[in-house]
Amino acid sequence: MNVLQETTNVTPSRSSVEAPGRVYLVGAGPGAPDLLTVRAHRLIQRARVLVYDRLVSEEILALAPESATRVFVGKAPSRHSLSQTEINALLVSLAMTGRDVVRLKGGDPFIFGRGGEEAEQLALHGIAFEVVPGITAASGCTTSLGIPLTHRGVATGARFVTGHCREGVDLDLNWNSLADPQTTLVVYMGLANARCMSERLQEAGLSGDTPALAIASGTTPQQRTCRSTLRDLPRDVAAAGLRAPVLLVIGKVVAEAERLGIYGMPAGRADLTQEVRRA
Ligand code: SAH
Repeated sequence: MNVLQETTNVTPSRSSVEAPGRVYLVGAGPGAPDLLTVRAHRLIQRARVLVYDRLVSEEILALAPESATRVFVGKAPSRHSLSQTEINALLVSLAMTGRDVVRLKGGDPFIFGRGGEEAEQLALHGIAFEVVPGITAASGCTTSLGIPLTHRGVATGARFVTGHCREGVDLDLNWNSLADPQTTLVVYMGLANARCMSERLQEAGLSGDTPALAIASGTTPQQRTCRSTLRDLPRDVAAAGLRAPVLLVIGKVVAEAERLGIYGMPAGRADLTQEVRRA
């Protein structure tokens, strides 16, 4: 029996319930539970049904009532995972049971989270939904490390791009527009394609000396970083053995944060914050 059947085999048809529940597409932030929004926290605490991805931590799930039904739909080795189409259908059928559903996604649901597709399906089926923004990995991971994504005189903007592509297909990005030394480039899902990113950006004219940083499991106790340059990033990331989720940050702000002495502030360390408060 797959997850879809398992969670919906008690599902009455639409006609047998008074009204469908509401679906909350909720951003869970970059990992640290204390980087949830107050709204997300409140919704999780009163959730009856939680549908969650791999990036949502145990600590965040633990905030839900014990009695809540938890449905894992992320991709993980050795666990059955659903396609996006199945997830869309699952959300619709769970809402049809008349229960509210909290659909938890890492970061922000609308930034590389496919939240737009889920919202579209809910709208198509006439199911009320609300989208709750979350701190996306780009700002959560960098800002908590003391790296400003934009900085006067250093970076006039930031671009968020995906480094993911279908197997065997080359990354289809506008390299010329991305190779801008005044812009901070943040690459989601870029670990597997770090070499391609590095080579194409250099071919498009971005200096190989451009500072770069890879952040793994940012804001969590498992956080690891690898400081490098655009040229050496693929080699250094591989040597460091970083494991997903990994965010790549390419741009002068990385070195600027070091120069300003603000790089490396403790990330998401509520324990340290308390110590500072006590001191
Ligand atoms: N909706 C999410 C992004 C989902 S795509 C958001 O807004 O953050 C998944 C990618 O996000 C990962 O491959 C990684 O590049 C990035 N990511 C998410 N959480 C991260 C974390 N804690 N540390 C590093 N990268 C993270």
